[in-house]
Formats: sequence, structure tokens, C-alpha cells
Amino acid sequence: MHDAPPRACPCCDSTRAEPWTAYSPDSWEVVRCTSCDLTYLRNPVAYEALETDFAWEKTYEAKKESSKGSTSLSPAIRSLRKKLGLTHRDKQAKFRSWFNDGHVLDIGCGLGGRIRPPMTPYGIELSRELHARADAYMREHGGYCVFGPGAEAIWEFDAGQLDGIVMNSYLEHETEVLKVLRGAHRALKDTGAVYIRVPNFGSVNRRVIGPKWCGFRYPDHVNYFTLSTLRDTCARAGFRTELINRIALPVDDNITVLLHKETS
Ligand SMILES: [Zn+2]
Repeated sequence: MHDAPPRACPCCDSTRAEPWTAYSPDSWEVVRCTSCDLTYLRNPVAYEALETDFAWEKTYEAKKESSKGSTSLSPAIRSLRKKLGLTHRDKQAKFRSWFNDGHVLDIGCGLGGRIRPPMTPYGIELSRELHARADAYMREHGGYCVFGPGAEAIWEFDAGQLDGIVMNSYLEHETEVLKVLRGAHRALKDTGAVYIRVPNFGSVNRRVIGPKWCGFRYPDHVNYFTLSTLRDTCARAGFRTELINRIALPVDDNITVLLHKETS
């Protein structure tokens, strides 16, 4: 992909940008757009490589191969389940109220357990192994999972089909931010909402810790949002941004927001 033209700004489409040399290790080019201020990776890798090179899924496959005949879950899957379980109870209650117990899509859904009944779960997943498991779970509960990249698969849902869309640790990985947000706007009911959680590039920690800050991941993270650049990007797709972690934001390594459709 290093032969491809540099990626334009995912928010404003400008190609004029200043390099963040300190945040650009090896051959990765992290830049700041001089038009809209968004920080992003200018030379991401293609979806196809992400699909086949997901390190932890490879680990899972290797483990499955070495334990043929066993039905036990791999450590990677177990740790993912545990991770989901920790935040699970609090989030379920919030999701249920924000999304009115309705039809809820989880983009980058992994195993698919993030959305539970009485909500109807839908998913999009880029890993074949995880997609198969998520689809089986979701069909049991009235929904389904679409295989593919988020910015493509979101357009397979009907206009106004969904009460809620969850983008948990997803948007920082997505090269086509506006395409997925516009697709979300179309697929969402007027009363629906989008939940987004992304690393907080504006955090005090990023400025203090610098290049070793936990939000940097090369080449997985391709967008580094502050609240301001996230809000601007979402506005271009027709959304109003409501900040959820308002009090803790400056010292929080993540930004949590709800998007609502702008009413004209
Ligand atoms: Zn820009």
C-alpha cells in the first residue's frame, strides 16, 4: 500500500497536512490536517490485509489446530468474553434506554454478545471466524450479522431499520469514516442514536506520555479524534454529538458520545 497515493483527510477530504514526526514510528505517517485539524494515518493498509492478518484471530486458528477435537474456547476468545463481561451489565442498561429496547446494530461486533435481549441484535464483522459465531447468536435472537467492512456492509441495512448503532472501539480503525457515518444516518430511525467510543487524542495523558500513549496503535488506528474533530466529522454526516463522559473527559483515554440525527 506504500505505492498508493496518500490518504486524504477522512473528515474534510483535504490532502494538505502537517507530519506528526514524534507519532510516526517506522514507515507510518501520522499527520494533522491543516484544514480541519483531524489527526490521521496517511498510509493505512488495505482491508484485505486486515482481514487475513488479524493477529489474535490467527492465534485463535493456531490454537484450534493444536487442540483438535476439543470444544473448549481459546484463551483469546475467553479473554474477549471476559473483557465484554466487565462492562456488560452497565452498558446493557444504558443501551436499552438509549435504544428503546429496539433493533440495534453493533459494528465490529466480534462474537456478537454486546447486544442482548430484549433488544434485537444485528452485527457487522470483518473476521470470518467471528462473523460465523456472531451470526448464529444473532439469528437465535431475531437479528443477523453481515460479513464485511463496516463502510460497505452498513449500506445493506434498510433505511430507517435501526433504533441504535454501536461503534465501540471501531471508528479509530475505519479508513472510510464519512461513508460509514452516512450509512449509519440512513439506516437509523429519526428517533435513533449512535453510540461511539474512541481513543481521546485530546487527553492529558496523550500530551504527557507522548509517543508511548496507549491510544497509539500502528497501523490499526487510522484516525485520532479529539472531541472537537469527532464532532466536526459527525456533523458532516448529519449528526449532533452529545458527550457522555463529560466530567472525566480531559483525563479519560477515551471519548464516549451519543449521536442524534439533526432535525432540519
Ligand atoms: Zn481535514
